[in-house]
Amino acid sequence: MPSHHYIGRFAPSPSGDLHFGSLIAALGSYLQSRSQQGRWLVRIEDIDPPREVPGAADRILRTLEHYKLHWDGSVLYQSHRHDAYRAALDFLRHEHKAYFCTCTRSRIHSLGGLYDGHCRTLGLSSAHAALRLEQTHPVYGFEDELHGWLAADRAMAEEDFIIHRRDGLFAYNLAVVVDDHFQGITEIVRGADLIEPTVRQMALYHQFNWQTPRYLHLPLALNHDGNKLSKQNHAEPIPMSDPRPVLAAALGFLGQSVPEEWADLTTEALLEYAVSHWDMQQIPKNSRLMA
Ligand SMILES: [Zn+2]
Repeated sequence: MPSHHYIGRFAPSPSGDLHFGSLIAALGSYLQSRSQQGRWLVRIEDIDPPREVPGAADRILRTLEHYKLHWDGSVLYQSHRHDAYRAALDFLRHEHKAYFCTCTRSRIHSLGGLYDGHCRTLGLSSAHAALRLEQTHPVYGFEDELHGWLAADRAMAEEDFIIHRRDGLFAYNLAVVVDDHFQGITEIVRGADLIEPTVRQMALYHQFNWQTPRYLHLPLALNHDGNKLSKQNHAEPIPMSDPRPVLAAALGFLGQSVPEEWADLTTEALLEYAVSHWDMQQIPKNSRLMA
């Protein structure tokens, strides 16, 4: 696949239905892809079964279809990617870029929450251990397409973070990097709640010797308590009725022009208008109350 061709993605976790906040991420990444004649992929991040809601993945996909946000190719499920994650972990271990850690949560809590590299030189084996990345080349910040330079907290950037959990689950940062690389994603457009792990993901790209994608972090929709809309705080699913008023509100939230006569347009025509009028420079940087 030629590297100059744009490939974007939307990667929801099936921990609940699509709400206005996740629609912002879906629509923003969709419009950024389509406005550059790029491909737009959908990936279901189902690597954490205890947090998943039965049927949510199918409902998310049906909702995207109802909103006429049609993706390219087939949906990639992280639950089908365990061999790839395992191979990535084996590579890091083989290259001595990762080590086992048996430290308890309460020990790390007593350190103030950031791990101190205690097990780096202990040569522990895998039984009941987490695997951590040995941070030899930490990343301290990155250039965001919307925000410009974003510096990370130094101690957080340097932490040997977990790439395989003690309970056997693959860590989010590992899976997302392995899959974005596998899918050839050239730019990641997602919510600002994922700014913080970006430097960790970039550190992984460097350890694998993979080219990092570009990043664009969209503002978050907040509820009236000032919290981001999320499944955890019971954000309402977006309706399966007429998508147009919701899409118009989402376009407005993203600072984009909304045609006055949108009610006369089909959903497809509204999205076509949005693609042709998409202006990344108009996206507000700050998270704020949903419209
Ligand atoms: Zn440890």
